[in-house]
Amino acid sequence: MNVALLTCVAMVGAMHSSRRSLGWSLMVLLILLVAALNCSPGGSRVVRRSAAHMGTVVTISVVATSKSHGEQSIDRGFAEIARLEQMLSSYRATSVLSRLNAMAGAGPVSVPEEFIELILVAQEVAASTGSAFNPLMGPAVKLWGIPENPRVPSPEALEALRPLTDLAGLSVMPQRGTVALSRPGMALGLGGIAKGYTADRVTEILKGLGVTGGVVAISGDVRVFGTQPDGSPWRVAVQDPGGGPDPIAVIEMSGGALSTSGDYQRFFEQDGIRYHHILDPRTLRPTRGLASVSVLTADGVRADALATAVLVMGAVEGLAYVEASAGVEALFVDQNGHLTATSGWPKRP
Ligand code: ADP
Ligand code: MG
Repeated sequence: MNVALLTCVAMVGAMHSSRRSLGWSLMVLLILLVAALNCSPGGSRVVRRSAAHMGTVVTISVVATSKSHGEQSIDRGFAEIARLEQMLSSYRATSVLSRLNAMAGAGPVSVPEEFIELILVAQEVAASTGSAFNPLMGPAVKLWGIPENPRVPSPEALEALRPLTDLAGLSVMPQRGTVALSRPGMALGLGGIAKGYTADRVTEILKGLGVTGGVVAISGDVRVFGTQPDGSPWRVAVQDPGGGPDPIAVIEMSGGALSTSGDYQRFFEQDGIRYHHILDPRTLRPTRGLASVSVLTADGVRADALATAVLVMGAVEGLAYVEASAGVEALFVDQNGHLTATSGWPKRP
């Protein structure tokens, strides 16, 4: 019998010995009600916590056998996020990513195996999307100054950066455990893939701790496993990119990942044009056309990278790409709020 169930049983015992006054009975009834809400027949409950990480809000929800098991599991989840942030953040001068970028043009840099794994996935998504996903957009993103110092750069200044965004300049040598950027000024950026990757890693940690179900939500990158305590799937909502109060979709998930990329997260407006943080590698300018894309697939790392890539590809090319990809579904929202879903996108529950 697990601890949560023991708590419930203890409360029933308390009720039998407390019939003397109406006040006591009412109080115990109230406690029982709360206990009933918290304890499923199997004695498990959802424990949830949010914290600021990776420049956004992260919420971890777990199905745990007791509050303390839940809290301890969540502690381990957040510790993993802090560890990965220290490796993957471009905002931290001492991160593996920053060390690599500081060595651009100066030869290979030794990096951890998991860093190599992530770069290999980034390269795989880049190859499969015709380089719509391009983790070398860093110098161009910086020139646009989004979000700290936004400005529209001159076409000449943008074109001058193009050689730095050439994916041929990123080489990975898994056997040697090294990564190299061929030219000075190149910068690898993992903003389009790191949150989904981190959600996957946290999920593995939680599963290893005996957590039977949970949701790891890193802003718009959501990874799900197992079910709610009563066996029902989790319900994950997709935010309206137009800022409306109601979600544009609610889907039931008991596994897999859902990532949303959009033009409404980080942007500035000039002369009626919205400039945001996802750049089309062909133009080195923010993508136009779609307001958001949500991608549903088995793992967080691919969901995250594909949501970015498909936003870049646009409605026509993006829809064709997702329809041709096994195990991937997507929901597109255009600038007028019109929704288009791929054929396998789940129907509203
Ligand atoms: P968010 O970070 O809002 O969840 P994304 O996952 O789409 O959104 O990632 C956006 C980030 O990815 C940008 O801030 C930038 O650092 C980087 N980026 C911009 N354009 C591209 C691109 N075409 N391919 C890959 N990464 C990109
Ligand atoms: Mg992404």
